[in-house]
Amino acid sequence: MTASEPMWQKEMKHLVMDADTLSQQLDIPRTAFIASDFPLKVAAPFLSRIRPRDIHDPLLKQIMPVDAELHKDPRYTADALDERPRNLSPGLIRKYHGRALLIVTGTCPLHCRYCFRRQFAYNENRPSRNQWRSVLNELRHDKNLREIIFSGGDPLSAPDRYLSWLANMVADIPQVERLRIHTRFPVAIPQRVTSELLGWLSCLSLPVVMVLHINHSNEIDQSVITALHKLRHGGVTLLNQAVLLRDVNDNLTAQQNLCERLFAAGVLPYYLHFPDRVQGTTHFSLSVRRARRLYRQMLNHLPGYLVPRLVMEKPGAHAKTLLMPLNE
Ligand SMILES: *Cc1c(COP(=O)(O)O)cnc(C)c1O
Ligand code: SF4
Repeated sequence: MTASEPMWQKEMKHLVMDADTLSQQLDIPRTAFIASDFPLKVAAPFLSRIRPRDIHDPLLKQIMPVDAELHKDPRYTADALDERPRNLSPGLIRKYHGRALLIVTGTCPLHCRYCFRRQFAYNENRPSRNQWRSVLNELRHDKNLREIIFSGGDPLSAPDRYLSWLANMVADIPQVERLRIHTRFPVAIPQRVTSELLGWLSCLSLPVVMVLHINHSNEIDQSVITALHKLRHGGVTLLNQAVLLRDVNDNLTAQQNLCERLFAAGVLPYYLHFPDRVQGTTHFSLSVRRARRLYRQMLNHLPGYLVPRLVMEKPGAHAKTLLMPLNE
């Protein structure tokens, strides 16, 4: 550990990755955990917001490997979103008009049990700098391209020098108008929002949209609010996508608290994703009917601008599919 190493990198070296530590810290029976090939992983700042001795804590449920993951259902597959055929070259996924998604890194500051890329072929998506150059050269030929999305994994796992190098190459593509970053870092490790990060973001010649991933209002504490404030102050547009998860946030109170707390932190709700049918995630699923009923309640209780779009991902579709509620 060097003196100059930023706090967030120290946190990344000390992620909690074993059930013994977690069960001790939270005073939860060790037997409640299972071993998984998608390993347990959680950063300390996120862990600090989990209530001890509460097996039903909505943040704990997002990160704890439990035996329900072993439940087999043939409708739940490894590549539920059919991303593989859209993974055109290492690091690049193209599904939608005008946008290209880059797998910047496979690393995350925590492992979300419901993650739709939990079985993604990250080992085939580790482009070298030269490979990135050729991916971006290839994208130059798409005259309809308007936006590049940094995704992963969590793109902010990469060092700022690397990210600013990649972002500046993106900004060099004349027809690209925006850079979007999908990240969970401001909630997982708020210290990730450093002056280095803010420095290259504000020097970039493109507007930056950051889509956070926050599922429950308990994820947002004062340190998160401070980090988000810095980003907003740095000119970043902040949006949130959440995943609708059974027993985590599948009720009106949870959704209302989340949307209102997001707004108070300077973030607008963007998407509420109906959970994808990914192997090992059946325990998070709920029926479309229930999702629509909840959504109707949200529309009836929140101002329009605080209601995210309820969407699901259909393989082969040209956009995310809106799940509109049925009128009563
Ligand atoms: C979700 C997604 C996008 C972005 O879609 P928006 O509707 O613009 O948020 C882009 N590329 C891929 C591969 C995606 O899955
Ligand atoms: S941070 Fe994102 S990519 Fe990483 S495990 Fe969670 S949902 Fe998946």
